[in-house]
Amino acid sequence: MDLSFGPEYEEFRTEVQQFIAEHGSKSPRQGGARDKEAIAWQKVLIEHGYAARTIPKEYGGFGAEPDIIKSRIIAEEFSKNQINTGLGGQGISMLVPVLLEMGTEEQKQEFIRPTIHGEMIWCQGYSEPGAGSDLASLSTKAELDGDEWVVNGQKIWTSTAHLADWIFCLVRTEPEAPKHQGISFLLFRMDTPGIEVRPLVDMTGDANFNETFFTDVRVPKHQIVGQRGQGWQVANAILGHERGSLAPPDAAQTRLNGVRKLMETETVGGEKLIDNPVYRDRLMKLQGRVLAMKCNDIRLLSARINKTQDAKLAGMIVKLQGTELRHELEALAIDVMGEIGLAYGDNPYLRGNGSWQYQYMYYLGLIIGGGTSQIQKNIISERGLGMPKEPKIEKKA
Ligand SMILES: Cc1cc2nc3c(=O)[nH]c(=O)nc-3n(C[C@H](O)[C@H](O)[C@H](O)COP(=O)(O)OP(=O)(O)OC[C@H]3O[C@@H](n4cnc5c(N)ncnc54)[C@H](O)[C@@H]3O)c2cc1C
Repeated sequence: MDLSFGPEYEEFRTEVQQFIAEHGSKSPRQGGARDKEAIAWQKVLIEHGYAARTIPKEYGGFGAEPDIIKSRIIAEEFSKNQINTGLGGQGISMLVPVLLEMGTEEQKQEFIRPTIHGEMIWCQGYSEPGAGSDLASLSTKAELDGDEWVVNGQKIWTSTAHLADWIFCLVRTEPEAPKHQGISFLLFRMDTPGIEVRPLVDMTGDANFNETFFTDVRVPKHQIVGQRGQGWQVANAILGHERGSLAPPDAAQTRLNGVRKLMETETVGGEKLIDNPVYRDRLMKLQGRVLAMKCNDIRLLSARINKTQDAKLAGMIVKLQGTELRHELEALAIDVMGEIGLAYGDNPYLRGNGSWQYQYMYYLGLIIGGGTSQIQKNIISERGLGMPKEPKIEKKA
């Protein structure tokens, strides 16, 4: 899909292309938390307005006015040229937007700048062994003792807890209140005494998430976002941002282009896979869904900026459709590769360094993380389509 947005925006597109021509060679191929090259690249992106674009200058961002079409043009040009779009992670994509909305001035000053520059890494302490889809059942508790909260309990599936400097954590502060009302949202350092992080290996073979235990962890009283007992509202605002950010459509477009290339080179019995009607049909269907995701992305940006639609709902559609789409795209690539598709690790026959196999497993995880597909479908059907609510069954004490 090649859209033209008129002369003003085409001028902006030229500006983005010039930036890519001048600086694109510095773009790291990969790179996450603590990677020096990725942190240096993030600085260049912020300086030129391609990361933290609409975050006010006083908090370390670029300070541009929100503009849906400019955001789309940046995403398109970066994806087309396979340029790294900068650091992500739970601090940047989830906590920062919520601090801007609900944080105190001191919290904005303290946390936003180092987070967007990759100097402060965060993890998200929501899920517990007894609270996942039904998150409001969480039981990690915090009791006030003088000027400090004392936190006790356990979180699970805490992504990047082993790397994080800080955690944003849901705790129960009012055990007597109805379950959605007795929760608070605390911020604390991961090197505070009483925190133990134990790695969990996922099906990719890496330990990307962890169990996190808290024993008498003391947290200064003011390190709370929102009011005491109103953490559920903060948590939900964060989930809205998480769901909207888990499966960007331009990354899906890049992977779609990759599958197509594979199909143009891989052969079975001398026939290119792109000429096989069954595989070709699968590719076309996925291409249609990628285009639909791009249109939905414009809807999400528009909903966020103009506040005309429920942005949280549009984000859920991105999460539901985008993660399942990526999983199916990676699956097509694996099928296309035949027996090589089953290779993994350091097998010399791997295509694309094994990224197809890795992403296939990784996206299966993302279909669950941030709220499972079943939960997204429940919420979309109830809030978006107005269908009858699922009966709520309270757990007996
Ligand atoms: C890769 C990955 C990263 C994660 N990272 C983090 C993180 O950083 N921080 C964090 O706090 N958590 C994280 N999580 C946890 C994630 O949020 C939970 O796994 C998720 O919310 C589901 O909860 P659960 O695992 O307890 O499953 P359960 O809630 O026990 O669900 C089990 C099954 O029942 C289904 N189900 C449950 N309730 C309903 C219902 N009402 N209607 C229909 N079906 C239902 C679910 O869809 C699922 O299939 C991560 C998970 C993954 C996989």
